[in-house]
Amino acid sequence: MHIDYLMFDRYHIWHPYTSMTNPLPSYPVISALGYELILSNGRRLVDGMSSWWAAIHGYNHPVINQAMNDQISRMSHVMFGGITHYPAIELCQRLVALTPSGLDCVFLSDSGSVAVEVAMKMALQYWQARGKPRHKFLALRQGYHGDTFGAMSVSDPDNSMHQLYQDYLPKHLFVNSLQRRFGEIWRDGDELELSRIIAANHAYLTAVILEPIVQGAGGMYFYHPNYLKIARKLCDQYELLLIADEIATGFGRTGEWFACNHAGISPDIICLGKALTGGTMTLSATLTCRNVAETISKGDAGCFMHGPTFMGNPLACAAANASISLLEDESWRTRVDTIATQLRTGLLPLVNNKHVRDVRILGAIGVVETKLPIAISALQSWFVNQGVWIRPFSRYIYLMPPYIIDSEAMQRLLCAISSALNCEKFFVTPDKY
Ligand code: PMP
Repeated sequence: MHIDYLMFDRYHIWHPYTSMTNPLPSYPVISALGYELILSNGRRLVDGMSSWWAAIHGYNHPVINQAMNDQISRMSHVMFGGITHYPAIELCQRLVALTPSGLDCVFLSDSGSVAVEVAMKMALQYWQARGKPRHKFLALRQGYHGDTFGAMSVSDPDNSMHQLYQDYLPKHLFVNSLQRRFGEIWRDGDELELSRIIAANHAYLTAVILEPIVQGAGGMYFYHPNYLKIARKLCDQYELLLIADEIATGFGRTGEWFACNHAGISPDIICLGKALTGGTMTLSATLTCRNVAETISKGDAGCFMHGPTFMGNPLACAAANASISLLEDESWRTRVDTIATQLRTGLLPLVNNKHVRDVRILGAIGVVETKLPIAISALQSWFVNQGVWIRPFSRYIYLMPPYIIDSEAMQRLLCAISSALNCEKFFVTPDKY
């Protein structure tokens, strides 16, 4: 890419979570196809990130492209107030059918963070409509729910953005991280803190909000499904709403359609995003049960008070319909299982490396947690030179490749990680960003 463009990018354009004065480098991508990103210098990178959980079918998928082209020729967008259309109706029918039972009323919005805001506002309006206004949420430490204010307020209070905005953010309650891992043997008593906090505070609580099974950006941790079962039971017992943020985990990533399926539970509200459109368009959905929707509608406001300009965007809905149609034959299960096997073979032995604290694998997610923070810029550049796209953060090098990846490309990702762990320089001088 012409150097002027890159200079403009560096001096004028914000990129996520990096400085405007000393930014981490940005690599110019000119196209993407299947599991590859193609840089402007012609270099092809095997994608290990699915563009942050989203591009599950890889890039430029002909079925999604065709559906989007067909939709563009009819209409890209039309307002949703007082208007409806087939792409949204078809999508909502699919979501009601696919998600855990009882989630029958769908609210479409723009991004994951907004889906979480919508979920929180639904819970608040639900209690208001019941004539018992409540304002506190219970969330998990090491959780992450997005970057908008409501979402930040229920994300980890120590390692997220709470300190920066603490005088502005509402204060909620937090349960310490759930120690028992996915796959470990459950011990009675593991759930005590969760039960204790709910029992002591239920009278003030609107809802429990959590990322089911996988805590993503807050530490890539996989917890035992029994926590979810118990959270569901406690929410029933104390009449609290349970909000499942499946923005990262939805659509097969963990080996089930939704992470809640590992525990066989239905939340009262679920948030979906990221892979909803196969990573092509920004779209999210917040689904709730009829009881919540009807209670809100019977309240003083008479309706739910949210209505984004691009609600139900037909082009995004068409992409989502095509993406889900690609999942419907369930062949993704075999692909995710195959990726899981490759991740186990390639990553588990790395636990013996002196830089590694832990290795965890669930479905098509593989995580190497290092002992020291990583020199992101240096490691990123080294990965690019190896022909792979892996973006570590903090102490985590992780893979969540597109489901269509083949074993040779997987091998390249795994070899790159294993070789990187033998380079001292990546684990001594973390970037300040
Ligand atoms: N919830 C979870 C669990 C997420 O992983 C993310 C995104 N990383 C969000 C919410 C926010 O989604 P978005 O970035 O689309 O606003």
